Amino acid sequence: MREINEIILHYSFSDFGNAALIDSWHRERGWSGIGYHYVLLNPYPDAESFCLHRPQFWLDGVVEIGRPLHVVGAHTFGRNTNSIGICVIGKELFTYQQFQSLATLISDIRADYPDIKLYGHYEFQDLKRPIQSCPNLDMDWVREILG
Ligand SMILES: [Zn+2]
Repeated sequence: MREINEIILHYSFSDFGNAALIDSWHRERGWSGIGYHYVLLNPYPDAESFCLHRPQFWLDGVVEIGRPLHVVGAHTFGRNTNSIGICVIGKELFTYQQFQSLATLISDIRADYPDIKLYGHYEFQDLKRPIQSCPNLDMDWVREILG
């Protein structure tokens, strides 16, 4: 098993999406499939539900599995080897259900990896490809709330 000591948070920078859709986006980029280990859904799993204003409220906050944890992710330049990548679906705001699921997921992960540290993608800027604010949350504030 690989050593895991970091959780790195991302956002999809899209109004909609789910693990299957991100998987297809990442394959279009020539990657071997979804680069994240977990995806936290909002009410819009696909373009149709968003464009037709058909929120699927029951999906809000659902945690989907991307890559298995034992497989190295593809989400943060230079930091994939020892990390878990979590992607929250959203462009600007996340939902309360997503944040609650995030808190639960992180505490579940901590049960297996008690010393794991939580970061946001923007804290590991790739200078060749600036990613600015991903996951669009102030990570000091997130760490304060999630402990
Ligand atoms: Zn990111």
